[in-house]
Amino acid sequence: MIPRNRRIIDLSSIQHNMELLRSVTPPSARMMAVVKADGYGHGAEETARAAIRGGADMLAVASAGEGKFLREQGITVPILVLGAVTETDAATGVQYGLIQTVCSPDMVILCEQAAEKLQKQTEVHLKCDTGMGRIGVRNQAERDDVLSAVAKSHRVNLTGAYTHFSDADGNEDGLRYTRQQYALFRTLTAPLDRDVILHCCNSAAIHRFPEMAMDMVRAGISLYGYPPVPTDLPLRPCMTWSADISYIKEVHPYTFISYGRDFRSERTVRVATVTCGYGDGYFRAAGKDGYVLIGGQRAKIIGRICMDQMMADISNIDGISAGDEVILMGQSGKESITAEDIASWAGTISYEILLSVGSRVDRIYRKRSVRE
Ligand SMILES: *Cc1c(COP(=O)(O)O)cnc(C)c1O
Repeated sequence: MIPRNRRIIDLSSIQHNMELLRSVTPPSARMMAVVKADGYGHGAEETARAAIRGGADMLAVASAGEGKFLREQGITVPILVLGAVTETDAATGVQYGLIQTVCSPDMVILCEQAAEKLQKQTEVHLKCDTGMGRIGVRNQAERDDVLSAVAKSHRVNLTGAYTHFSDADGNEDGLRYTRQQYALFRTLTAPLDRDVILHCCNSAAIHRFPEMAMDMVRAGISLYGYPPVPTDLPLRPCMTWSADISYIKEVHPYTFISYGRDFRSERTVRVATVTCGYGDGYFRAAGKDGYVLIGGQRAKIIGRICMDQMMADISNIDGISAGDEVILMGQSGKESITAEDIASWAGTISYEILLSVGSRVDRIYRKRSVRE
């Protein structure tokens, strides 16, 4: 049975995007695929495997739980947990051989104690806060406190250090700020052993600052086909979201459609009811300016989006019947709707659109055998 509402994930596009990102990154740098938040909504395991096929050397997740899940699926490449290690995470991280993030002596001790309990060695990366204001050591004194905790430990091995840019996708001023962040990161990491790998680039910086690749780059949103800055790289969106028409009717002029009577037809309108609503994660706020694609043509969303259904104007589209597919995000004929389009209708960013697709929207994986 075809579900009423599904997202089709094109794994060969994920692989293709990773290959492209690899091609613009200096060969000396490793590639990390960021698959946190269930692979930005694309499915962590499948995304991770496709990214590895495309050349990813390492993976990044948000929490030890996300890393544990990938290990349980049999994924063996190094995995970095980006969130600061917590007491419960420390044990999971050690048990599943994850690299944990530390930015205080206490965090090093948590890892040491967890490793001692399990009689294992464990790896950590030092997080530096060079201007993001989230987590990380902010100066040499804080750095040295962490380093001495590592030196005192018997089971904690520092194998990397990293920082995160807050405005690499910004304007001129953002670029200046990014260069300052980079310079501070170099200062903070200067005394570290040469085999400690250094990394700072997110997607925006991969495109804008290849010279900052250092030993590794961390590709998130661009891996999914939505570069946050303009680029000539032919990255491809990997997620198509579609539903069906459940019902079609023709309404007379002055007919109200949906809650609150926001919409009233001015003329005779053919209305399609679509099997998707905000309960599936479609942003209710996108209804005002949004449209969907039916038979390769745009159909404006009319009336308020409901929990499980929405209505679209198909007056100008011929040959449509109930059961036909509705593209909410993706391509149909010559038309396409991107996560960025929906984000602009809803007043948010592509990241949030991709991540908001609801859990009741089934995932279907496709591997295209022939390259376009
Ligand atoms: C999420 C995240 C990334 C990926 O960012 P994108 O903008 O999606 O490329 C990289 N590094 C850290 C620390 C992150 O939290």
